[in-house]
Amino acid sequence: MSLWEEETVTTPTDSQQTANKIMQDALKKMTENSQDDSGSGASGLEAIEMGAARIRVDDKKMINCFADLNQLVPFKYKWAWDKYLAACNNHWMPNEINMAADIAIWKDPNGLTDDERIIIMRNLGFFATADSLVANNLVLAVYRHITNPECRQYLLRQAFEEALHTHAYQHVIQSLSLDEAEVFNMYREVPSVARKATWALKYTQSLGDPTFKTGTPENDQRLLRDLIAFYVIFEGIFFYVGFTQILSMGRRNKMTGTAEQLQYILRDESMHMNFGIDVINQIKIENPHLWTQAFQAEAISMIKEGVELEYQYAVDTMPRGILGLNAGMFKDYLQFIANRRCAQIGLAEQYPGAENPFPWMSEIMDLKKEKNFFETRVTEYQTGGTLSWDE
Ligand code: FE
Repeated sequence: MSLWEEETVTTPTDSQQTANKIMQDALKKMTENSQDDSGSGASGLEAIEMGAARIRVDDKKMINCFADLNQLVPFKYKWAWDKYLAACNNHWMPNEINMAADIAIWKDPNGLTDDERIIIMRNLGFFATADSLVANNLVLAVYRHITNPECRQYLLRQAFEEALHTHAYQHVIQSLSLDEAEVFNMYREVPSVARKATWALKYTQSLGDPTFKTGTPENDQRLLRDLIAFYVIFEGIFFYVGFTQILSMGRRNKMTGTAEQLQYILRDESMHMNFGIDVINQIKIENPHLWTQAFQAEAISMIKEGVELEYQYAVDTMPRGILGLNAGMFKDYLQFIANRRCAQIGLAEQYPGAENPFPWMSEIMDLKKEKNFFETRVTEYQTGGTLSWDE
């Protein structure tokens, strides 16, 4: 008889029953405490209820849901699971990318202009801390309040990708032998870098409070505001000047390793943003009372503030214009992106007629057009070549 069979057929003795009772009481207490901390919805840490009714798809909800969060299936939001699978299939590691050409051009006194060096330094300064901020928002603020296992599965993958991105920036900084303290302190020493992080922080701090609970319209809107701030604006607007500047350098054969790192990161980020937009739209469908006219007006003004801050960042990183780029082009680009973000969450476009001066950026984001670039690595990971069971 296997261990499993033994456990399921044996009748418990009195002492086992007493031990079970003590265990159940302790778990019940923990559950009550954890529910106090986790808001109006399950946390996933509740005591196991033996023989409880099985989960039905209709029991599942994006927020304020009490259906067991430890059971991935049946899927209600298949798109979240599909994004999780797509993200896993796109796995990559920063240290696989050859940085030799970047090291050579960075060390060569004539390799880059001073303006190009400012762009590299400022962007590393912004990005090196930005992905940590996004990860902390995910893990410490958002995850607790999204009460759906398939979405949490994607959030866990996203959190790992944020760690990979921070790893990528550290890999560039180390490869180029940059002053680490200078780069990592920029978000509190360079105003245009600091302003973007400061703008986003207030939205996550609102949720990071351990006593915060969803379940009232006001608090559910706080969660929605945080999701808009981070997915639509931080990952959907604040990354785009830097990505465009560095990818543009890569297109001109400068800092190609760094550009390749950013190309992978951009692909991940565009999936993060699309996932966040799906979550926001699903919360709207399930809770239409949250999407008031006043709330929509607030979301629009947040997006407009984001455009302004990112434009200031463009001016600050590129006071003179380089490589066929100038700050004015970024104004058009940011307005074009902002229109798209508004439409994606069901708001009216705010910048009529804005056009995209960088159509090549859309091509980079469209994975189907980047077959050679992406598919070789995807295949390597799908075969799982580095596992060794002998060690
Ligand atoms: Fe991200």
